[in-house]
Amino acid sequence: MTEAIRVPLLDLKAQYKTIREEIRAAVDQVLESQYFINGQEVKQLEEAVAAYSGSKKGVGVSSGTDALVCALMTLGIGPGDEVVTTPYTFFATAGSIWRVGAKPVFVDIDPETFNINPAQIERAVTEKTKAIIPVHLYGQCADMDPILDIAKRHHLYVIEDAAQAIGAKYKGKTAGSMGTAGCLSFFPSKNLGGLGDGGMILTNDEALAEKLAFFRMHGSQTKYYHKFVGGNFRLDTLQAAGLLVKLNYLEGWSEKRRQNAKLYNRLFEGFDKVVTPKVRQENVSIFNQYVIRVGPKRNELMAFLKENNIGTEIYYPVSMHEQECFASLGYKKGDFPESEKAAGETLALPIYAELTDDQIGYVAGKIKEFLSK
Ligand SMILES: *Cc1c(COP(=O)(O)O)cnc(C)c1O
Repeated sequence: MTEAIRVPLLDLKAQYKTIREEIRAAVDQVLESQYFINGQEVKQLEEAVAAYSGSKKGVGVSSGTDALVCALMTLGIGPGDEVVTTPYTFFATAGSIWRVGAKPVFVDIDPETFNINPAQIERAVTEKTKAIIPVHLYGQCADMDPILDIAKRHHLYVIEDAAQAIGAKYKGKTAGSMGTAGCLSFFPSKNLGGLGDGGMILTNDEALAEKLAFFRMHGSQTKYYHKFVGGNFRLDTLQAAGLLVKLNYLEGWSEKRRQNAKLYNRLFEGFDKVVTPKVRQENVSIFNQYVIRVGPKRNELMAFLKENNIGTEIYYPVSMHEQECFASLGYKKGDFPESEKAAGETLALPIYAELTDDQIGYVAGKIKEFLSK
């Protein structure tokens, strides 16, 4: 018997091997400085990520979730307000709206891209609506032009949840740079992952950037004088130092993910039991995830792949409108059929940059083997 191939969903150790010395040196420098809060690396990272994302300003924060919460708070969104978003996303998107006291209002997704369907947004807008939060899911931007148009006509903020989409492009523009503000996450599994939690808010509005920076420091501009009630949403210097090293490799990693996606697409070509992810012509995806549709045998397939040492994941098995904590919003099963369908039949495959062609071939082969039975 040949040695078994293992393909984890993500292999951060493989990535670390390639940058170990640089990361250690960067971390060591912060340790020697003992400047753990607001060190110079934070400012350097803010400038570098803003430039990479085609945004004027970047405000480093403690996580992607805190980027959303801080942006909502700073824009004054709270009790009595409504925020339109997608039900098919990571919990933080809807959870952040709820946490500032506003009401999440959901709109179904486009089944082809899994992103919010702009054609259904306008009917969800009411007198109380203050903002739209499109999510650029799996690394592909939502269809921003119609979203920005609706926002303009109704005087709404647009907060891009770009947690999965750093560097992704839409009609030549970069994720996070198109709305009022864009929220990035440096959670370790994102394309630019830190040594723990981290995030950033992007904006082209300099006055807003300044205000965001106060909100991240308990709303204080001058120490011990508080104009607003914010929070402790700071990004650690250690995180910034590690991220500055990794940022130099990000474009190469995202390009490798695109190549891996291309190889999967080719291997599944003509195999009608797998629907491969569709990237719209106007988009460049960073493939934070490579998500296929496989129909009702999804859970069995996942178990079969696990037996064969292949890691996969379901993003996301329960849509936001069906979450127990949001029961009081009054939604029910069937309200967002495309979102529910996607939750029931999709599977994310390993797509990380260090994958070999043999590993990708093995994964595709096992999927075809199971679904041909
Ligand atoms: C990861 C993620 C977040 C939250 O980011 P954290 O850094 O984990 O707090 C928010 N929205 C989406 C769509 C995400 O994928």
